[in-house]
Amino acid sequence: MQPDRPMRSVPVFALAWCPIVLACAAEPPVAPDAASAAADAAVPDASPPDAASPDATSPDAGVACRTITATDLSALDLTVTRHVRAIYFTPSDRPFRACVHEHLDRFAYLAQAFFRDELAAHGFVDGNGAGKTFALDAAPDGTWDVVYLVGEQPAAFYQAQDDAPGAAMAEMFRRVPAAFHERNVTLYLYDLAVVEDRAIRYSGNGGSGAPWEGEGTGYVLQGAHFLGLPGFDTIALDAADQGAMFERTEDAGVDDWDGDQAFGPLTRGEYTSTYLGAALHELGHAFYLDHLFTDYDGDGVETNLMGNGFRRLSGRYTPAGYQPPTELGPDHAAALDAAWMFQP
Ligand SMILES: [Zn+2]
Repeated sequence: MQPDRPMRSVPVFALAWCPIVLACAAEPPVAPDAASAAADAAVPDASPPDAASPDATSPDAGVACRTITATDLSALDLTVTRHVRAIYFTPSDRPFRACVHEHLDRFAYLAQAFFRDELAAHGFVDGNGAGKTFALDAAPDGTWDVVYLVGEQPAAFYQAQDDAPGAAMAEMFRRVPAAFHERNVTLYLYDLAVVEDRAIRYSGNGGSGAPWEGEGTGYVLQGAHFLGLPGFDTIALDAADQGAMFERTEDAGVDDWDGDQAFGPLTRGEYTSTYLGAALHELGHAFYLDHLFTDYDGDGVETNLMGNGFRRLSGRYTPAGYQPPTELGPDHAAALDAAWMFQP
């Protein structure tokens, strides 16, 4: 969907939320109440930022990860265009998630591969015969060049606003130079989520084309909960282990829509399918894709990334996941073949 007013001059972020509940992984932002104002108790343990994965049973246990420090905003490259880039925001009293850089990097390449494979499946290839996809901001070490930002306020401050994600996004806009946001697709990622009564709060997802930032540009506003919740991650550090992340049967501690469009308790594997799928769905909106619910093969299962099918991502990684799995579909593959962000 596309909001009808520029976000920069009119920060009405609610316009960005998915309007169709069934097509959105998360509820729209929930107004804070008295109970959540004292959110300190719900903030995850302050584990060291360079700790290994918090999940001792995950394939990532024991892997050494980068220690994250805040990015020097005066040294950003403001000449980049046509890249998918990201700003990752954590409030002043939350350390960066364990292995956040490595997980974001893996996510970026997972997303790039999804679109590459889907465009190839429909014959949309580049000069080398590979499926077309988008370009990433890459750091000298080859990893995704994410901008890391420590908020000026503690989590409770943002959570007390009517629109917590919007408040975090507004601070990102204010502190990061305006040129950074222009002529690219930017992911605005923020770590404000709290799980209460099996629901994730302060976690609205949204994405949209943003033509006021330049032709073909867009943005995603995405809570960090897509990377996992305290106790488990959604992304494996080694791509070969990603299938196992979708096969876990332990309770995720959250109720949401699963890949069969049923609302209820999610396993960690189902959570991973729903929330990684949601992150790709929002990226699709940033590439100007609208919702699509066509059942192309008429088998009664709608599998579109931009419909409800985004929750079926697991089937692409393991036979134990949802079958048939998430697909882009022929119409959206053709749309991306022509999209500004998919040109060399
Ligand atoms: Zn949507």
